[in-house]
Amino acid sequence: MKSYDIIVVGGGHAGIEAAIAPAKMGLSVALVTMEKNAIGRMSCNPAIGGSAKGHLVHEIDALGGVMGVIADRTGIQFRTLNKSKGPAIWAGRCQSDRKLYSEEAVRVVSETKNLEIVEDSIVDVMVEDGKIVGAKTLSGKEMKCKAVIIASGTFLNGLMHTGLKSKKGGRFGETHQQD
Ligand SMILES: Cc1cc2nc3c(=O)[nH]c(=O)nc-3n(C[C@H](O)[C@H](O)[C@H](O)COP(=O)(O)OP(=O)(O)OC[C@H]3O[C@@H](n4cnc5c(N)ncnc54)[C@H](O)[C@@H]3O)c2cc1C
Repeated sequence: MKSYDIIVVGGGHAGIEAAIAPAKMGLSVALVTMEKNAIGRMSCNPAIGGSAKGHLVHEIDALGGVMGVIADRTGIQFRTLNKSKGPAIWAGRCQSDRKLYSEEAVRVVSETKNLEIVEDSIVDVMVEDGKIVGAKTLSGKEMKCKAVIIASGTFLNGLMHTGLKSKKGGRFGETHQQD
């Protein structure tokens, strides 16, 4: 059974930062995500920043994270929003090339030392004496670890409502059901 310091579940924006930070500190990390090429995939409008999230991107950047760096490398338009109003509400926003952003995220994660990408789905955690000691995958693997960070996003078991009709769904083309 393979052993890691940390298992991160999910390779979205949160999982990328959660995996890279401890790996940079020398801990061994497994980033388990369903599809390697979906690492860093943006949902729809590929904007990084803006008045709601811009401060978060700057904070991640100040802490040594990669979101702002990847946005800079893949940006196709950079703007400061709300310039007609006072500086308190100005906000930087980058429109990235959606496909390039994900490709660059895959490259950055793949090139991080101490970090292994595992293409699978975590279905359970292993607990001994009230402590997490590992995780189990859909394909039947058992992986040992000292901690699990769950960054599985918002799509699983999602329900989409159109008028009175509801159907199961999530990001186009991705598994969204965790039965
Ligand atoms: C339509 C839409 C448009 C949006 N537009 C913007 C925008 O323009 N700008 C912006 O900043 N934000 C936008 N957002 C919000 C943004 O997409 C989310 O805030 C962001 O994706 C959340 O990142 P995350 O890492 O938490 O989750 P996600 O990006 O959802 O990543 C989670 C990952 O975990 C994987 N996963 C889940 N469960 C498991 C498991 N058990 N085992 C292994 N892997 C698992 C999933 O497959 C997925 O790859 C938008 C969201 C939506 C829905």
